[in-house]
Amino acid sequence: MALLTLSRDPVPGWAKIDLQLHQPYRAFFGLGRLRCDWCGERWGRHGCPSRESAARQFVYTASAAQRRAALDSGDLVPADLRLRRRAPAHHRRRPGPSPRRQPSPNPLAALSLTELAAATR
Ligand SMILES: [Zn+2]
Repeated sequence: MALLTLSRDPVPGWAKIDLQLHQPYRAFFGLGRLRCDWCGERWGRHGCPSRESAARQFVYTASAAQRRAALDSGDLVPADLRLRRRAPAHHRRRPGPSPRRQPSPNPLAALSLTELAAATR
């Protein structure tokens, strides 16, 4: 039963684990900048880079109920909801094939080629 529930969860496990592991702490007795307690990276609006990608993955895959639960528990902050998965470059539309690639519609061009071949024979 637990496995069944697990397989239906659209949020990947690494995203939830990273959201738990990467937590901010204030260096230098509460006077310094916020840093990640787990990886030591600087803590920005969305946390360290690992937490940001985990939050992005969570926001992208989680259901509305899961998002609300994460917000209530503090695993997610409202700013994280604005994170979106960056569109990969290969998903952008490519221009169509160049019309120059098509064979010439002029039949005279082919004719002169055959004439040329016959003349050189
Ligand atoms: Zn971190």
